[in-house]
Amino acid sequence: EIMKKSSKQETVKVIVRCRPLSSQEIANNYSKIVHMRPQRGQIELKNPKEQDEPSKDFTFDAIYDENSTQSDLYEETFRDLVDSVLNGYNATIFAYGQTGTGKTHTMEGKSSDPEQRGVIYKCIDHIFEHMAASHNQEYLVRASYLEIYQEELRDLLEAESNKKLEIKERPDGGVYVKDLTSKLTRTVGEIHEVMIRGNGHRSVGRTNMNEHSSRSHAIFIITVECSRIGEDGESHITVGRLNLVDLAGSERQSKTGATGERFKEATKINLSLSALGNVISALVDAKSAHIPYRDSKLTRLLQDSLGGNSKTVMVACIGPASYNFEETLGTLRYANRAKNI
Ligand code: ADP
Ligand code: MG
Repeated sequence: EIMKKSSKQETVKVIVRCRPLSSQEIANNYSKIVHMRPQRGQIELKNPKEQDEPSKDFTFDAIYDENSTQSDLYEETFRDLVDSVLNGYNATIFAYGQTGTGKTHTMEGKSSDPEQRGVIYKCIDHIFEHMAASHNQEYLVRASYLEIYQEELRDLLEAESNKKLEIKERPDGGVYVKDLTSKLTRTVGEIHEVMIRGNGHRSVGRTNMNEHSSRSHAIFIITVECSRIGEDGESHITVGRLNLVDLAGSERQSKTGATGERFKEATKINLSLSALGNVISALVDAKSAHIPYRDSKLTRLLQDSLGGNSKTVMVACIGPASYNFEETLGTLRYANRAKNI
């Protein structure tokens, strides 16, 4: 399909966040191989096995080192996206990276500590504060929560959530998920509850939650509908959608020696992450006329939130320790490709 595109470069932003060494990594004396110069957006990665080799250097729109706070990311990078959602546009935030590098920390963080609350909490605060401060406008906020596991969609807000959902196309070319629960939420507390309930259903019947979350994409969707009375006396409705995506772990599954079901699962994860990379790199490439949205459920679902007037931020998460060299290099290359060509 040929899609019309506009001002691509500004609509996709790729940032990198590096977490601190964990206490276990410190105890094991792992060295740090990631060096960041946040002012310049530069990252140098050292190959621990080839000390004489020059470092591999990358430059990004913004980079966040181990001292960066959840607020730093929000104020500098995410706040804009939420403003555009409040103005009726779609936006998407992806957290990409190897398992254990801080995807869930960035998206959700720890609710118990205000300093550790991730972007989902901050978006919710921002949206509800904006609503409370505005006059002559009425807002409706809805939340949905779904998961893509093995290229199948599950509604995380349904108790019987093993039902597979289907992606449908509207006559105008837009896409929607048939029968996906959409909860009207009137307060910050209500939308938190929806998120927590969805998280609970993620782990239902799972023996190992960590393993499951490393193999599935979780997508929390906040829809903001705004009606204002225009100068013509008529009411005008705009709808903005914010997709908050905690992606499956990007680690190469082949390394784990997976066979059978696990191998099938692994190829599907790789497929959807590479499909996403292809879509984003096509969006930032001015010469590319074809955006391959149809290559995975993830990109198809987000088709009308990627490109056009939508804003996208990809947060590539990495760890600093030497034993992660290969995976970190893989993540930086993926992110670099999503940035430009
Ligand atoms: P992922 O979702 O990518 O598997 P997590 O978000 O669960 O990774 O992070 C793994 C561990 O590292 C968690 O204990 C988390 O609290 C910690 N962590 C991740 N990023 C940071 C950070 N920027 N600062 C402090 N701790 C972090
Ligand atoms: Mg996680």
